[in-house]
Amino acid sequence: MKLPKYYIKFDAVPGIPRGIFEEGRDAANKFGFRTNEYYLSLIDWNDPNDPIRKIIIPQKDELEEWGFIDPSQESTFTKQPGLQHKYPPTALMLVNNFCGSFCRFCFRKRIFMKDNKEIDWNFDHHYKYILGHKEIDNVLLTGGEPLLLPTKKLNEILENLSKIPHVESIRIGTKLVAFNPIKLLADDDFFSVVNKFSKSSKRLYFILHFNHPKELTPYSLEVIEKLRNLGAILCCQTPVLKGINDRPEALNDLFRKLTNLGIVPYYVFQCRPTIGNKPFALPLEESYRIFTESRKGLSGLAKRARFIISSRFGKVMVSGIDDEKIVFQYHMAVDLDRNGKTIICKRNPKAYWLDDYPDFLNEAEGTMLGQ
Ligand code: SF4
Repeated sequence: MKLPKYYIKFDAVPGIPRGIFEEGRDAANKFGFRTNEYYLSLIDWNDPNDPIRKIIIPQKDELEEWGFIDPSQESTFTKQPGLQHKYPPTALMLVNNFCGSFCRFCFRKRIFMKDNKEIDWNFDHHYKYILGHKEIDNVLLTGGEPLLLPTKKLNEILENLSKIPHVESIRIGTKLVAFNPIKLLADDDFFSVVNKFSKSSKRLYFILHFNHPKELTPYSLEVIEKLRNLGAILCCQTPVLKGINDRPEALNDLFRKLTNLGIVPYYVFQCRPTIGNKPFALPLEESYRIFTESRKGLSGLAKRARFIISSRFGKVMVSGIDDEKIVFQYHMAVDLDRNGKTIICKRNPKAYWLDDYPDFLNEAEGTMLGQ
């Protein structure tokens, strides 16, 4: 199987219509660019609303002044370069600084930008930290793309984490099954590693990032089938993205298909107010409406995802809305005592983030300050 070629320069992409190139050139220079032959082949250039195109092709609206470089304030929870510890039971290791393509709406696009030194490639520091924190029972490998590490390196990381007695499960956050399944299918060693760690008492979870049903090609389906047969546990997540999956039918189709493939719907996120993300962001209450609409007609199994705002206060879920009020509930609070607590706020149809709800801030910041 021929491996898809990677493109790290926007002007090197073959066959891209001239106008589209010129429109996106400055955004590509500012935020970086990367993709590959396989994912490009999914684009229908005759369709100006093609979702795959919107996911990876830079556009000039990204240059609009909007948002923050680190909208969830991950720096606050970074204990050492490349290791975040926000919730007591979970450590997050950033293990790579590139992806199979760059999503234009990436909330961690800072790590792809020039001069970023957020990743410490000596992971021994991380094993040592995790070993010293017995409250950590699960580790999430993320980035960037963990599955673009050399397979030997991935094996080494899993080996080292598995030896830590209190680590009970390891999660791999990945979009490679969408971006470049051919790369995975060509790597038998990768599947041997999955097999090895899926049989231990420490289960291996894959949190698959799919944004649109168009990404579910025969190649990605083959990877999913192999991972499942080897005993890995598969979950899926996506943000709600303007112009990409903001039709309820698209999300409905995505979650129905993924559930039928045996994948657990996990999180649907509010698009974070990251710099460059304005063209993809929808007001929070609009995203929640799309999420709710998309669930109509789905089975209970396909409705297991929660609508989540991943904020500096933790993961906050929207659990209901009426004409005047919106109900937030802490799903994973930074302060564990707040898990499950609800905060009822006055609606704000123009809000993009929790900071746009004064009632929420009063409650949450009062608490954080009082800690
Ligand atoms: S897969 Fe995730 S980390 Fe990679 S570019 Fe997309 S959003 Fe960013």
